[in-house]
Amino acid sequence: MKAIVIGSGVSGLTAAALLARDGHQVTVCEQFGQIGGVTATLWEEGFGWDLGPLMLEGIGPGEPAGEVLAEVGAAQRVRLERGERGICFPDFRILPPAEYGGPYWRREWLKRQFPAEQEGLDRYYRFYDQMMGLAALSHQAERADGLRAFLLKARLWLAFLQVMRMKNWNAAQVMDHFFRDPKLKAIYTVILADFVVPPSIFPGLLIPLVNPETAFDKRIPTRLSPSVTGKRPAFHYVLGGCGKLVEALAEVVRQHGGEIRTGTRVQKITIADGRVTGVRLEDGRDEPAELVVASGGAHEAFFGLVGREYLPADFSARVADVPFMESVLMVHLGIDFDPTPYQPIPLCYYYNTYDVEGGIERCRRGEYHEGKDGFLIYIPSLHSPDMAPPGHHAVTVYTIAPNHLSEGTWTQRRDEMADKLLAEAGKVIPGLGERAQVRVILTPQDFRVRTLQEHHSFGGVAPVLGRSGAPHRTPIRGLWFVGSQSESNAGVANSIVGAWRAVRMIRKGM
Ligand SMILES: Cc1cc2nc3c(=O)[nH]c(=O)nc-3n(C[C@H](O)[C@H](O)[C@H](O)COP(=O)(O)OP(=O)(O)OC[C@H]3O[C@@H](n4cnc5c(N)ncnc54)[C@H](O)[C@@H]3O)c2cc1C
Repeated sequence: MKAIVIGSGVSGLTAAALLARDGHQVTVCEQFGQIGGVTATLWEEGFGWDLGPLMLEGIGPGEPAGEVLAEVGAAQRVRLERGERGICFPDFRILPPAEYGGPYWRREWLKRQFPAEQEGLDRYYRFYDQMMGLAALSHQAERADGLRAFLLKARLWLAFLQVMRMKNWNAAQVMDHFFRDPKLKAIYTVILADFVVPPSIFPGLLIPLVNPETAFDKRIPTRLSPSVTGKRPAFHYVLGGCGKLVEALAEVVRQHGGEIRTGTRVQKITIADGRVTGVRLEDGRDEPAELVVASGGAHEAFFGLVGREYLPADFSARVADVPFMESVLMVHLGIDFDPTPYQPIPLCYYYNTYDVEGGIERCRRGEYHEGKDGFLIYIPSLHSPDMAPPGHHAVTVYTIAPNHLSEGTWTQRRDEMADKLLAEAGKVIPGLGERAQVRVILTPQDFRVRTLQEHHSFGGVAPVLGRSGAPHRTPIRGLWFVGSQSESNAGVANSIVGAWRAVRMIRKGM
């Protein structure tokens, strides 16, 4: 078939690579001048920084997205290194200890910090193990066929029964069930700032899955012991930057005869008799196709490119209900000094508040905290020295930020807001802003342009209880939707696996 893929982010390129390998004639249309969407790497004056994701979950060998990358022939083209993140609060830091303390060292460390919570911590980690086992089973079941799939699904159901009573609990309820101390609760819920979703609406069962112990110490093995169900997720850096991942996928597309056109914006998805007929480009040209795979913003794709008149009311309502995150303010720096005395590992999150619910709610209301509530510092040149000139380092500082400021615009206030964020980061790495030789600022406005989203949702669909992303299958025959705003959820690994799921349905003619 002639297939057109809209968008060259990691989801569009995965779908394109799979379809090209299947023998379809594939064209990828990307509106921006560079491929990769938010998984691109930026370069300036010899410094390289990732535009979006930093440390990726689930892309290693045998992991959900890793298996797709292997199937498509891209895995062997990227080099991965296990990563970990530190988290720092006003009165303590949780960093991997110099001497490895086993897979549950954080539990034991936390018991010493919060002696009154020892029993709750033991209960939490039993729940944690159940959820990790469930996630591993679910991955195995999705990939299995026949009797094995049936048996795995039965095991999955039995395992789910153990936590079923919590299925509608929000994250705050789950935390209240195990702990009393607000600081301890914050340790497990601050990561929700990454989704801009407050604990009161975040699905409680996901708390262990967004806090895997392997994220906090790369020495923790992914397979614990034969008695523990499944593998634990691993976190990896893509050496040389995440852009290498999209380049690898793009190579596969081209190698199998596919074409990738940058600077090519799709204006309309053309439809006749309930079936897709192709796309209309910005310059007015029509490109016929029997198959169109759209990625990017769900509202933009369905309400803009398709048009509500072609969609049943219930489908439009589902798309309208897709919950979004907010955006980010990001400052990339090139520095000429060694930052490791202040931050010993490439990635650390700094939180200045324990009021997780309030901080996130304020961001959702459009109140920007100017870096005061927290930020992260990422130094890719620590794992990939080629991302900075010799003797130099590439540093990224970013924080969540609302799409629109309550006063003024991001364009008017970009330098002021970057200075304020760097003033906070300078409390961690002294002189960070002042001593930078190169500085690149990306505001929510820049991200809107980069992704062509009216409301930039930086990770994709927000994990909110009872709501979900847009379906891969659409009411228009031959039109499919993939990416971080789809039902497969946000993030790089989900976007890759979601594209694989959509192509699997296309293959089966569903
Ligand atoms: C700052 C930041 C940090 C992140 N951190 C992490 C992380 O640590 N871990 C993780 O897993 N994920 C992270 N993510 C999320 C992850 O990067 C995304 O979920 C994923 O990369 C989305 O891929 P995608 O293909 O769905 O979308 P995108 O990368 O947005 O790609 C969509 C593409 O479609 C193009 N497009 C849209 N409309 C049109 C049109 N009409 N015509 C032509 N082209 C069009 C856009 O230009 C864009 O290139 C982060 C994201 C950001 C921004």
